[in-house]
Amino acid sequence: MYDQQNIFAKILRGEIPCDKIYEDQYALAFNDINPQAPVHTLIIPKGEYISMDDFTEGAPDELLIGFFRAVGETARQLGLEKDGYRLIANIGTNAHQDVPHLHFHILSGKKLGPMLSR
Ligand code: 5GP
Repeated sequence: MYDQQNIFAKILRGEIPCDKIYEDQYALAFNDINPQAPVHTLIIPKGEYISMDDFTEGAPDELLIGFFRAVGETARQLGLEKDGYRLIANIGTNAHQDVPHLHFHILSGKKLGPMLSR
């Protein structure tokens, strides 16, 4: 069950402010409150989706496409297309997903090193 009181739901509803980077009808991108790299932006779909599982199973095609276009557009707006960036989506318990609204982390601004810390 989607928790309507999760922090990203509140941000989507405008109840909590965010440092917005990009928004369209499909997605909202904003800077992470606790950045782990010089660039650390989060992007979330506009809809009640917890994970890639319910998003890819239940979202309409238009939203799926629009969301992934918005990920690319956000990276371009951040000027990351030349030097590159890392996308991370933590899904569920094994990945330590903290906020139960699907989100991708966009990380960049320096060479990020190995993909996983051990
Ligand atoms: P997760 O561990 O679920 O993949 O990542 C959740 C992310 O949300 C964390 O990087 C955390 O810093 C960020 N976060 C948590 N609460 C807030 C908030 O209120 N505002 C913003 N901008 N980011 C948040």
